Amino acid sequence: MRTVAADTLLSHWENGRGRTPAARALDLLVAVSRDASSDEPPWSVWGRDPGPWTVGHRDAALLSLRASTLGPTLDAVAACPACGEPAELELDAADLVERAEGPVATPLTVRAGGHVVRCHVPTAADLAAVTSTGPESVDDLFTTCVESATTAGRTVTAKDLPLRVRAAVESALEQAGADAETTLSLSCPGCDHRWVAALDPAAFVCAELDREAFALAREVRALAMTYGWSERDILAMRPSRRRLYLEADR
Ligand SMILES: [Zn+2]
Repeated sequence: MRTVAADTLLSHWENGRGRTPAARALDLLVAVSRDASSDEPPWSVWGRDPGPWTVGHRDAALLSLRASTLGPTLDAVAACPACGEPAELELDAADLVERAEGPVATPLTVRAGGHVVRCHVPTAADLAAVTSTGPESVDDLFTTCVESATTAGRTVTAKDLPLRVRAAVESALEQAGADAETTLSLSCPGCDHRWVAALDPAAFVCAELDREAFALAREVRALAMTYGWSERDILAMRPSRRRLYLEADR
């Protein structure tokens, strides 16, 4: 997997305000894909456009991108649900990637309650398109995943499907998209309580890259003030070279 280039990192922060992590994650993958060649994995396997990738593929690509840009170890903190003690975690991106990898999704046909429904598991583009939050976001995502529905030769919209038909479609999508959630098995160092927590790689990686963008902005500011170089020239340097010049100024 390629790394996130310095100027991509800054535009990711700049364009990200007011947008959901799912939308930002897709933008980031599109930006990185643009520089990659078609015979490079994962593009060679999953396709050049990350929009139709499943959530499992999207998250695997994000975590690989994170590993190649910032290193393979992710630091996270989770509060123990039993005693409230914060547990510090070191996660290996490769372990999470392995769990997130699954087969590429194909459209499904679900027959239930006299209805025939064509649908697909949520893709990176589906998630990016959902801008609402709360219960209506579940409805929005469901509507996006239903491609067509008919009963007795008549077309039905996703919103008008009877509840039991909707439940059958949701259960089929859940089974087909078993790779969609990244979960962690955790144990509390204080009270030994064990629990399973969900990790949203899109939110996690976006937050980390935002912190990284700030650190980079500080470097650009320091180098520009010291040496009078332009932002463009500073961003074109390798990170090790930027750090060398910063050290030389101390
Ligand atoms: Zn505990």
